[in-house]
Amino acid sequence: MSVKTSIPGKGIPKDELLSRMESMRNMDADWRSGKTWSLVYYAGEDHTGFLKKAHNMFFSENGLSPLAFPSLKTFENEVIAMTSGMLGGDENVFGTMTSGGTESILMAMKAYRQWARKTMPSVKEPEVLLPVTAHPAFEKAAHYFDLKTVHSPVGNDFKADVNATRELVSDNTIVMVGSAPAYPHGVIDPITELAAIAKQKEIGFHVDSCLGGFMLPWLNKLGYPITPFDFSVPGVTSISADVHKYGYAAKGASVVLYRSKELRRHQFFVYSDWPGGIYASPSMTGTRAGGSIAAAWAALNSIGEEGYMRLAESAMKTAKAVMEGIGGIKGLYILGKPDMSVFSFASDTFDIFALGDAMDRRGWHLDRQQFPSSLHMMVTAAHEKVAEPFISDLRESVEEVITNPKASAEGTAAMYGMAASLPDRKAVDGFVLDLMDEIFE
Ligand SMILES: *Cc1c(COP(=O)(O)O)cnc(C)c1O
Repeated sequence: MSVKTSIPGKGIPKDELLSRMESMRNMDADWRSGKTWSLVYYAGEDHTGFLKKAHNMFFSENGLSPLAFPSLKTFENEVIAMTSGMLGGDENVFGTMTSGGTESILMAMKAYRQWARKTMPSVKEPEVLLPVTAHPAFEKAAHYFDLKTVHSPVGNDFKADVNATRELVSDNTIVMVGSAPAYPHGVIDPITELAAIAKQKEIGFHVDSCLGGFMLPWLNKLGYPITPFDFSVPGVTSISADVHKYGYAAKGASVVLYRSKELRRHQFFVYSDWPGGIYASPSMTGTRAGGSIAAAWAALNSIGEEGYMRLAESAMKTAKAVMEGIGGIKGLYILGKPDMSVFSFASDTFDIFALGDAMDRRGWHLDRQQFPSSLHMMVTAAHEKVAEPFISDLRESVEEVITNPKASAEGTAAMYGMAASLPDRKAVDGFVLDLMDEIFE
């Protein structure tokens, strides 16, 4: 498609623009029908319609000024308090709403850096110790805030190796990280054991529950075996949880929580010398979208514990059904023992990326993963009705890949295969940077 390079001299009629946008949207991933297994967390049209109303009501409001918009201040404080209560927090736990999991993680890492500057002055090169499966947002935080990441290995079960992690703690470690669960394989790290190490060393411990924060508490209540991961675990000093994932809120809503008000203070930013006035900002962004804050509040209040339990149970049952279906196909197996409705699968007999391409052709979208090569699935309540057709297409696709020896050299399989096998990761980074230049032309 040709790209416009200037603002139109005269405005284009709104109807025309809306219909153009509608037809562009038809080319996008078809998440509404449950064919996309990532990116969108959908709890049905009725809920989405309600969220849009709540979002629209605060469409123009700006959360940067709680004084101008006490409504947003109340929404935010209540979302934080409700999230804290759900995650085992007491009255000493304080937090902030952010635009998403990445911002929550950036803020937590920045808070630990500031905290360490004050309380660990001998540390000149602060380190973040995290499992290799932790989300890249931690790498981003290190990249932005000049921290060093130290990676601990995971075992065959894809959980952080506690003994190996203990060995990697140094005098420069200011914070350790565990995921509940980690995105790639949906397994929870041994939070209790890891946080005990951090407590003993008197350093921070951040639980990344961006994905599981609004899922695990309900699964626990439903009787699924969930290892402790929240503020009830001694040594856990902060948690991130995304309302815009399994909280089924509008995009742009996450919560970062701290064990104490003192720790949260290290996150805040104040500049009092500006001619424009005394400037105070709790998180990364300046302007904060009122709609996202309002919709998060509306989601928690309208779905309620009962609704979340129902959504969690439905997602979990569907995930189990899909995992069983995959396990029943020769050559495919699930990686590790997933703790919730997120998992990945691989093959010991054929090219899993070629299978991904065959599924693409049938309209399904599955994310590709590496080390080991696998396909990823994030299951929500919206997938209930597609579990069966998915498995039948998967079975058909496996046949297709097995009978087509050229499958690995075609489609995107060749590219993913090469990217996963190249030992020179810097070369892969360079290749991806070139691609980004091209995409964001
Ligand atoms: C999604 C996710 C993040 C990042 O959240 P964004 O909202 O995409 O910025 C961090 N950690 C985990 C485990 C996640 O699943």
